[in-house]
Amino acid sequence: MSKDSRKDELKKAWREQEQQRLVASIPIPHADLKELFDYLDRENPPPCDHTFRETVQFLEKRKLSAARVVPWLREHGGYCDCEVIFNVEEKFGPIVGR
Ligand SMILES: [Zn+2]
Repeated sequence: MSKDSRKDELKKAWREQEQQRLVASIPIPHADLKELFDYLDRENPPPCDHTFRETVQFLEKRKLSAARVVPWLREHGGYCDCEVIFNVEEKFGPIVGR
């Protein structure tokens, strides 16, 4: 095996591991996360007030724990409703089937 293809193998393995780590970290069912993204990304949402107002409303309606989900969103760059769409959806959207 050439040095480069060895490197590619390592990169691929790392990416797969990273992907698995991301999947395992999701604190709510994938279907709920997908619907959270759909909800935040709906047409004509109210302007983001730079809090998790919409996210928390959605989670509470479904009896999901905001106390678990919000720190997870922050960990992935979502510090308010609009950043959840910009940063978290970018990483997790494809995983949950968006
Ligand atoms: Zn915002």
